[in-house]
Amino acid sequence: MATQPRFVVTVDDPGGLIQDLAIFDRARRFFDREGVPVSFYVVPRGEGGWLLDEQTDWLAALHSAERDGHDCQLHGLDHHGCEFGPYPPLVMEMGGPDIEAHLRADTERFGHLWRQDLYEDKLTTAIAIFQRAFGRRPLSLRTGALSQTPELYSAMATVGLRYASNAVTDPRGWKYICELYDEPGDWDPAVPPGPYQLTSAVINLPIISEYAWYLTEEKIPKHLALAVEDVGRVYQVGGVFLLVCHVQCVGAEDGLSQKLLSQLFAIARREHDPLFENVAELVRDLEAGQVGLLAGGG
Ligand SMILES: [Zn+2]
Repeated sequence: MATQPRFVVTVDDPGGLIQDLAIFDRARRFFDREGVPVSFYVVPRGEGGWLLDEQTDWLAALHSAERDGHDCQLHGLDHHGCEFGPYPPLVMEMGGPDIEAHLRADTERFGHLWRQDLYEDKLTTAIAIFQRAFGRRPLSLRTGALSQTPELYSAMATVGLRYASNAVTDPRGWKYICELYDEPGDWDPAVPPGPYQLTSAVINLPIISEYAWYLTEEKIPKHLALAVEDVGRVYQVGGVFLLVCHVQCVGAEDGLSQKLLSQLFAIARREHDPLFENVAELVRDLEAGQVGLLAGGG
C-alpha cells in the first residue's frame, strides 16, 4: 500500500526578526482553524538586544503552540547580513535583476565572515538560546533568506544538526514574487522534491516553493495555480510537499496569504488526502522508515 503523501507547512521569521507577537498570534490562530499543524522557524536573536529565551510572552506563545500540535525549529541566529554565506539567486533577485552586482556587494561586505569556524560559533550560540527556550535542541536549521556556503553543512555536522531545510525545488515561486510570470523557468533539477541526503551527515528537507508572499487579490489565482501544480507533481514522484510561508504575511491583517493557503489546503485535501505534519513529525517518520529519502541532487 502506498503511504499517504505528506504536506508540511513551515512558517519563517517569528521571534528575533518579526518581534510583534500579535502577528504571530494571528498566523497561529489561522493554522489552528485550518486544522494544519505547522513548524515555526524561529529566529533566536534580534535587534535591540532581543533574545528568545528572555522573552516571557514569546515563550508562553510558542510553548502554547507546541502543546496544540505545532512545532518550533531554528531559523539562523540573527537573520541579518548574509550570516551563513551569500543569498541564493532567487532571493537576490527580489532586490533587483542584477544578481551579479548583489553578489559582489555582499561578498565585499560579508565574504570575510563566510568561514566554517565562525558558522560553528553562530550555530552553537543559536542552539544554546533555543535549548534554553524549549528545553531541547532543534532538529532542523533553515538560515535567514537561505544564506549559505558549502561550509555551513560541515559546520552543521560538527555541532550535530542533522536536518537542513535550505534549498528550493521550484524557484518559480520567487519569479512570481518578482512578477516575472512570463518566463519563470521550471524546477531546479539539482533539488529533489523531497528529503534527500545532502552530505554524509546532513539531510535536506527541501522547500518546494513560496506561494503566499505579500499577495494582492489579482495575484492569488496565479500563485494558487502554481502551488496546485506543484502539489500534484511532487506526489506523482513520491516526494514531500513542504512549503515555506512567512509569519508577517500569514499574520497580516489583509488576510490574503491566509486566503491562498486556505484554498490550497482544501484543494490538496480533496485531490490527494495528504497527511499534514510538522517538521518534527516528518523527521520521526523519516527515521522510522515510513517516509523514504529521494535520490540526491545533481
Ligand atoms: Zn527568514
